[in-house]
Amino acid sequence: MAARKGTSNLEAVNVQVILRCRPVNKDEIANRTPQVIQVNEKQSEVVFYQNVAGKMIGRSFHFDKCFGPESGQARLYDQAVSPIVEEVLDGFNCTIFAYGQTGTGKTYTMEGGDRNSEDGHDLSEVAGVIPRAINQIFHHLDSINSEYTVKCSFLELYNEETTDLLAIGDALSRTGDKNKLRMLEDKSGVVVQNLEEIIVKTSADIYGLLDRGSAKRRTAETLLNKQSSRSHSVFCVTVHMRETDTSGEEVIKTGKLHLVDLAGSENISRSGAVDMRAKEAGVINKSLLTLGRVITALVEGSGHIPYRDSKLTRLLRDSLGGRTKTCIIANIAPTVQCQEETLSTLDYAHRAKNIRNRPEVNQRVSKTAHIKELNAEIDKLKGELFA
Ligand code: ADP
Ligand code: MG
Repeated sequence: MAARKGTSNLEAVNVQVILRCRPVNKDEIANRTPQVIQVNEKQSEVVFYQNVAGKMIGRSFHFDKCFGPESGQARLYDQAVSPIVEEVLDGFNCTIFAYGQTGTGKTYTMEGGDRNSEDGHDLSEVAGVIPRAINQIFHHLDSINSEYTVKCSFLELYNEETTDLLAIGDALSRTGDKNKLRMLEDKSGVVVQNLEEIIVKTSADIYGLLDRGSAKRRTAETLLNKQSSRSHSVFCVTVHMRETDTSGEEVIKTGKLHLVDLAGSENISRSGAVDMRAKEAGVINKSLLTLGRVITALVEGSGHIPYRDSKLTRLLRDSLGGRTKTCIIANIAPTVQCQEETLSTLDYAHRAKNIRNRPEVNQRVSKTAHIKELNAEIDKLKGELFA
């Protein structure tokens, strides 16, 4: 690959923040649990009700988009995620985080509902962001005249250790050291050494990868006596495209999409400090805590941004105040029992709206096109020399 081209889009853009409130579940309906959230989708507004001296007082929060309990997967995807995937297909790096308390729908949003109850190859209503994004990517690639490769990786971060969810091998051997991947810094950012990158040929392949990743996650969870609510998963799709532009020039574009299902936010207090109870229980999640501190530092314009303090922020450094387009989907539950965590999530998400990134397109003229360009230049110079 040769000369870097088209790094034109350097305007600062804010991190996009989307709010999603899940529906009440069967138990909550049976127990007639009071609800404290009202979502006004048209106004992109969420109202949080609190009982103050016997009176319900509403507090309003605005986000880029808000989705209430009646909004299904397709609607959220079409309105909020599809434009981001279009950016990936234009050669940008984009990251979507699912943030929120355990049980608010982060995994439902990212991966989808129970795949076994549906035809796994179908984009059913319960399908989440990952299969829908892959579907959109292939739909686009099949409709244009372009050579392409689509690769996926899937990793998990637990206790500051990185595990490859797609590596072949039994779950038991995953507990060994050889399955703990190392992160190395190079000029282009952080690379996870030996991370499996699987080439995906059709959009239906994605269900096999998701099942493989989830099965490994579940087995290791039981074997290691750990909790999935305390781990982060990062699904990455890389799309390489070789196209011919309108001037007949061959260009290579690479777009990358990171889809991050974060650990449950319940142990981090509203100020971003470690919750005392969490400290006592020894369940401090360094990566989630550092993510909060990075957001605070970026929002306050601090000179030092503590990216290096955790694996998650090292890996996703570019998505926070860097060259990536970033979106946070903040998930909440509508019920009164969750009100404290809901308010914490609303505050966190609200602050994150102020982070600014400078997205850059990854486009390069291909080698053959560059050689053609140089040959034309030589011919021109020869012509001038012998004229
Ligand atoms: P988290 O990953 O945040 O811990 P889950 O995604 O596991 O939460 O969701 C908890 C439960 O709520 C699951 O049974 C899930 O299917 C259900 N759920 C979450 N969000 C929705 C939604 N928008 N619509 C229907 N069911 C949902
Ligand atoms: Mg989950």
